[in-house]
Amino acid sequence: MAAKLEPYQHDPYLSGGRDCLNFANTIGGRRPDRQREYLNTYNDLLAWSLHAGLLDETQADHLAREAERRPMEAAQVLAEAISLREAIYRIFSANARAEAVPAADLAVLNTALSKALARLQVKSGPDGFSWSWSTPETALDAMLWPVVRSAAELLTSVEREQVRECAGDTCSWLFLDTSRNHTRRWCDMKDCGNRAKARRHYARSRART
Ligand SMILES: [Zn+2]
Repeated sequence: MAAKLEPYQHDPYLSGGRDCLNFANTIGGRRPDRQREYLNTYNDLLAWSLHAGLLDETQADHLAREAERRPMEAAQVLAEAISLREAIYRIFSANARAEAVPAADLAVLNTALSKALARLQVKSGPDGFSWSWSTPETALDAMLWPVVRSAAELLTSVEREQVRECAGDTCSWLFLDTSRNHTRRWCDMKDCGNRAKARRHYARSRART
């Protein structure tokens, strides 16, 4: 019997808007030196994947049991996941600032992409055919495949230009700005946006006294 997964609670509304951006947001605080890691164990990665809808309960439970049997491999997958996440973050963060994307990060994404795409297959069903993943229930890195695919798709689409990094000074979350005038500045108005507003208010009231 696998350990029960604690629900993932750091990003209730999945504010990134795409799987790859939500994955980049599995860290708190401001990168590069004031961050708080949210994925400290393989089970944390499973809990996030369940929360993000990349695995269902049965798959997550199965992988939790697999990870108990293969702890070294699970630790390796977690390390790969973190390296992939940071590459995704740097790619889209550079892109949001209209800077050149680091070649080493693109190489990390492409290595992960070739692994993921090798698992992609076409499944036949009652209504025709659909994309699916082959044997996700035994592969400890199965949740990374849709993340990688999402990053490649976003990077090659026009939506790439709408990816922003939160303007909060204690946050480096990424999000897709789908607001009408493309003026969204914060990952979450209730959180980072409110903090910024409160700070401006405080600064103004101090200036008046
Ligand atoms: Zn934020």
